[in-house]
Amino acid sequence: MTKFKDLGLNDEVLRGITDQGYEEAFPIQEAVIPILLSKRDVVGQAHTGSGKTAAFALSMLNDIVPKKGIQGLIMAPTRELAIQISTEIRKMGKHTGIKIATVYGGQGMGIQLDALHRGVEIIVATPGRLIDHLKRGSIELGDITHIVLDEADTMLDMGFVDDIQFILDLSPEDRVMSLFSATMPTAILRLAEDYLHNPKQILLDADDLSGEGIDQSFLVIKDRDKFKYLLDFIKPLKGQIIVFCSTKYRTRDVAKYLHQEKYNAVAIEGDMSQSRREQSMAKFRNGKADVLVATDVASRGIDVPRVELVVNYDVPNQEMAYFHRIGRTARAGTEGRAITFVSYSSIGDWNIIKRQIKVPLRDLNQEMHIEVSIPDPLKRQSSSRRFGGGGYGRGGGGRSSYGSRGGGGRSSYGGGRSGGGGYGRSSRDDRGTKRKDTDGDGKNSYGGRSRW
Ligand code: ADP
Ligand code: MG
Repeated sequence: MTKFKDLGLNDEVLRGITDQGYEEAFPIQEAVIPILLSKRDVVGQAHTGSGKTAAFALSMLNDIVPKKGIQGLIMAPTRELAIQISTEIRKMGKHTGIKIATVYGGQGMGIQLDALHRGVEIIVATPGRLIDHLKRGSIELGDITHIVLDEADTMLDMGFVDDIQFILDLSPEDRVMSLFSATMPTAILRLAEDYLHNPKQILLDADDLSGEGIDQSFLVIKDRDKFKYLLDFIKPLKGQIIVFCSTKYRTRDVAKYLHQEKYNAVAIEGDMSQSRREQSMAKFRNGKADVLVATDVASRGIDVPRVELVVNYDVPNQEMAYFHRIGRTARAGTEGRAITFVSYSSIGDWNIIKRQIKVPLRDLNQEMHIEVSIPDPLKRQSSSRRFGGGGYGRGGGGRSSYGSRGGGGRSSYGGGRSGGGGYGRSSRDDRGTKRKDTDGDGKNSYGGRSRW
């Protein structure tokens, strides 16, 4: 294990790290910090919760000079993540005199302009609002020396990539740039070559998306039984819980039902006002709420150490989202649990995800002796997805006990997946309408209105 002081960081930064209570550098930090300090570009991949924020922030805090203009730029896909990154860097940089502004959609321009006028050296931003500032001249990137894309695979996905290109075109060629994510598909690694100069790739456990330290399980149930099971699972728990739903409406409904059951639950989804989103996050972060019900807007990057259980109330419709969602627990080497509810119509999607999970998965139908009546899987090929009907699950054919897998030919439910899937294509919900994040004008994909 390496001490931070052996990585070449200055005393002001080291004091900040000590204040945070960090004793030793995590592997990604140990690997990345010296490279960034040597001014070489980096692609950094490491598990969720493995300390990537400090990996990119510390070298920035080390190199940036107070009162010399904006030198560092960090971009993140959601507003809440941008806020979190700022908060963390502010703590680590406490003794450096470096000031940070957070720039994101949904918050009044005035607050951000005031912060910028006071003078800052680091900007943490969502792309849409940053572009608004660039266009009105309230932020200039001419002195930028350090750029980071956090959750880089999302940032270079098609909803954002044009914005990122626009922003990078306005920043100096001579800069250190780094990309970070727990998931780095090869398409992104290839794309990274266009943006980075001779980057050093640090890919820790790249093949292993398993979700280390997370006890993962799944339960196949009827959609209408999900809430009952949710209550059963969360009742005995003392720690915090995140429940991920597939849509804003379900998010709202589940939060409402939890309130009716007297749970201290908060919701976060893209249609809520930004102040309400922040209120929810703040309550969850400071432990005043026990349950956060969320769309995928909270699936990336959010770090709340007390999260003990992640429930996928709905199977995510994108493989990577599963690993990011469950990665909200078991942060910084702790343990956690993740349970995925699989409704009959999601079995095909779940099988696709399941194939990528490299650790033993617990089958709760077997453990809890819950048998389900699953319609004839052969009919699944013409399931609701292709024809848009809701008929699947009703009037289905053969009864099969999900618990007794490995039996006859009907035990494989891997239906074809007709839309989405491949990296870089729009998610199924998008149905071919390419959406672009603009973060300020109501057409956002991440952190905004349209997608979640
Ligand atoms: P990632 O971005 O890789 O998902 P984060 O940067 O959010 O992970 O860090 C996860 C958690 O680990 C945070 O709560 C952070 O404070 C903590 N952490 C980071 N580095 C260290 C360290 N060297 N020692 C102890 N805790 C750390
Ligand atoms: Mg992170």
